[in-house]
Amino acid sequence: MIRVTLQRYPRSVPSPLDAKLSGVLGGRTASALAKGFGVETVRDLLTHYPRRYARRGELTELVHLPLDENVTIVADVIEVRERPMRARKGSILEVTITDGKGVLTLTFFNQAWRAKELRPGARGIFAGKVGDYRGSRQLAHPDYELFDDENAGDGDAAEAWALTPIPIYPATASVASWQVQKAIGVVLDTLPELPDPVPDDVRASRKLLPFRRAIELIHRPTVDAEWGAARKSLRFQEAFVLQLALLEQRQRLREQAATPRTPVAGGFLEGFDERLPFTLTADQQVVGSAIAEDMVTTRPMNRLLQGEVGSGKTVVALRAMLAVADSGGQSALLAPTEVLAGQHLRSIVAALGPELAARLRPTLITGGMPTADRRRALLAAVTGQAHIVIGTHALMSESVGFFDLGLVVVDEQHRFGVDQREALRRKGATPPHVLVLTATPIPRTVAMTVFGDLEISTIAELPSGRQPIETFVVPLSDRPGWMNRVWERLAEELAQGRQAFVVCPAIDPGRPESDDVPPDVSDDAASQRPMASVTDVLAMLRADPRFASRTVEALHGRLSSEEKDSRMRAFAAGELDVLVATTVIEVGVDVPNASAMIVLDADRFGVSQLHQLRGRVGRGPVPGLCLLVTAAEEGSISRDRVEAVASTLDGFELAQKDLELRQEGDVLGSIQSGGRSSLRLLRVVKDGDLILEARAIAERVLADDPTLARHPALREALDARLDETERDFLAKS
Ligand code: ADP
Ligand code: MG
Repeated sequence: MIRVTLQRYPRSVPSPLDAKLSGVLGGRTASALAKGFGVETVRDLLTHYPRRYARRGELTELVHLPLDENVTIVADVIEVRERPMRARKGSILEVTITDGKGVLTLTFFNQAWRAKELRPGARGIFAGKVGDYRGSRQLAHPDYELFDDENAGDGDAAEAWALTPIPIYPATASVASWQVQKAIGVVLDTLPELPDPVPDDVRASRKLLPFRRAIELIHRPTVDAEWGAARKSLRFQEAFVLQLALLEQRQRLREQAATPRTPVAGGFLEGFDERLPFTLTADQQVVGSAIAEDMVTTRPMNRLLQGEVGSGKTVVALRAMLAVADSGGQSALLAPTEVLAGQHLRSIVAALGPELAARLRPTLITGGMPTADRRRALLAAVTGQAHIVIGTHALMSESVGFFDLGLVVVDEQHRFGVDQREALRRKGATPPHVLVLTATPIPRTVAMTVFGDLEISTIAELPSGRQPIETFVVPLSDRPGWMNRVWERLAEELAQGRQAFVVCPAIDPGRPESDDVPPDVSDDAASQRPMASVTDVLAMLRADPRFASRTVEALHGRLSSEEKDSRMRAFAAGELDVLVATTVIEVGVDVPNASAMIVLDADRFGVSQLHQLRGRVGRGPVPGLCLLVTAAEEGSISRDRVEAVASTLDGFELAQKDLELRQEGDVLGSIQSGGRSSLRLLRVVKDGDLILEARAIAERVLADDPTLARHPALREALDARLDETERDFLAKS
């Protein structure tokens, strides 16, 4: 087996940042933090930056507190009342707090003793989930910490006390903001000087704080200006280390020569082209030749192919794989989910036809495979018999080896990070060519900065003969009665012999399918309502006489991969009429007879996710219908997102709107969902200029000191970044 590990420069001394938290904090605190936020090392904790800063002297506005959201607020206690519970034994302590204008009630059951500390006039910080009790807002059993008013006396001390910023950390129901703050304080108290990854001259010329000082001030500022300067310094450091990592990766790649892959006369590619049932669109041809030109050189191809859902990217990728097979090499196709990997296998086998398929042996490798199958598949990959290997994250695991990996195709870039691409790349004897496919158009600023190492191609036209998809928003907040009309419409589609998807944000009532809520949505107040679930909707449709003669099945991430696969297959074969699903059907699913896509609680999904879901219908000769059902109020951001999707079919336009709608959206985070290694302070869209400057400086540093031997702290920061990424792989595979 050929296995190449990434070349490492000699490691620098271990950093105090790499120390395990369990050795620094109490075991209980450490494990609560690990459970709550996935932080395990000192570095993880210290980069758990405050979300914002409050002040003791400044009360939080209470009028606009969003319902059902976890909030952390500063307020004064004005009234405390104890009363017996009506139906049961025991008492309720009701504490009214205020910002001077609005009020909020805190309720505690059977905790009358709290009246001793929560006295009228006390000021503190309160955290909990905003609930509604008979029309007024309340926090039930909030966590709180009262300010110690000894310091609040008179004069300068009092003023300093009132102005001191209080860091508000991302918190969970079990770890409050101030608990995070205390843990960080403990770590900071003994934290030694830290070597700074940013070179001295750069720091001086940009007026940045030294690393150790910046870390101190972002967590323990005494005035607002301090955290401002700290964020600025750490943000630059992030941009700089990221650009250095990208540049270094590119530099290493260029040092290695790829194997040229040339199609042969009378070979696989020619055979495939001869039996292709359609002609390639002009865009497909242009991109196809760009790829062919890239792959006949010794410089590894590194190309991003973006194109609308259904624009025919897969065919282009398959042709590249055939060119590689012609030269005796193998290709790996990396798909984001097992369902999609399975579907890719089937559609590739079908596209190749029996004769080519038998010779190329497309082979599936996924985590959920039975051991015997997996062993057989691994053997086919490592001996080179399988010219096309298709799989999920499992492809990146140690046990997967190739005989001669020539091309890595990554489907749907936004699910895989730069670093994951790198992991697969390492499996080639010589660096394989890499082709990344995405239907999520990547805004130019992002492409330029984040994927600086990729060439970009675009397929803009759809193959002819496609039916347009009609999209409608069903606004339940204004028209609750329209829900029934949605089901009627579904019945009508089915009556025409067509099939449909009904997508829900949750599998079970009350819980989102954990890993499927996009980061830009999960914070959104309006999207915290109860959600449609697969379980409920499945039961409802099965009980509805309008669907009595229809076969309705569920598809979601908790099913075994065999179950998912067999249901998907049954749907593709027309044996099922309706699939009630979560977003596992999001990308790549191709069932030409499916005409309707009904998304319930559409505001729970991101713009690109909705666009992807819509792309599942209208793929064949029948026109597509997409109904986006939402209870979000008109004018809310959630509703705007849904309206945006309905307003256009153009993915590039949508990507732009999406950016405008995400206020603090971390574009990089959702593209590169590589766990904790994604960026903290940097915002790819907003900080475009900063990223370009950081890139220029990184280029200079690297040109001057290619192995970074003279920049040990920077070397260490890069290694740490890599370690984090490797940890993420292990967790996933
Ligand atoms: P994408 O991966 O970009 O979403 P696919 O490659 O899956 O799109 O193509 C969608 C469908 O269109 C497939 O059924 C494919 O066979 C078909 N197709 C691809 N290219 C063409 C073309 N040039 N003309 C007609 N149909 C095409
Ligand atoms: Mg596809």
